[in-house]
Amino acid sequence: MDCLFCSISTGKIPATVLYEDDDVIAFEDIMPAAPVHFLVIPKKHISTLNDLTEEDIPLMGKMHFVAKTIAKAKGVSESGFRTVMNCNQDGGQTVYHIHMHVLAERKLNWPPG
Ligand code: 5GP
Ligand code: ZN
Repeated sequence: MDCLFCSISTGKIPATVLYEDDDVIAFEDIMPAAPVHFLVIPKKHISTLNDLTEEDIPLMGKMHFVAKTIAKAKGVSESGFRTVMNCNQDGGQTVYHIHMHVLAERKLNWPPG
């Protein structure tokens, strides 16, 4: 399947990898929207949040655990960070392999644009 984030997770396309195990991989976003901006993705191809199944529930928990572990390693746990998963057009999704954005090191606006 021709998927950008599958290609990153298999190493076909390079990325600055921050963490990797059998289930997930985390890497720096190529166009950072904040001083800290990395993505946590499952290695399994899931197109959108709408495609999650019950068997994916532990995977979603692991993605959050990896996000907070990297945030701590980057020293932004206490100042704070935001996790975002965009779904479909209105959510602003552009890459159709689910990914968690983790943004930090600037004051993020709420509500988002
Ligand atoms: P979305 O808009 O789907 O929520 O987010 C997609 C994200 O993937 C964007 O923040 C974009 O900058 C990032 N991105 C797109 N192409 C690449 C790439 O080739 N490498 C990396 N590291 N990030 C990418
Ligand atoms: Zn994929």
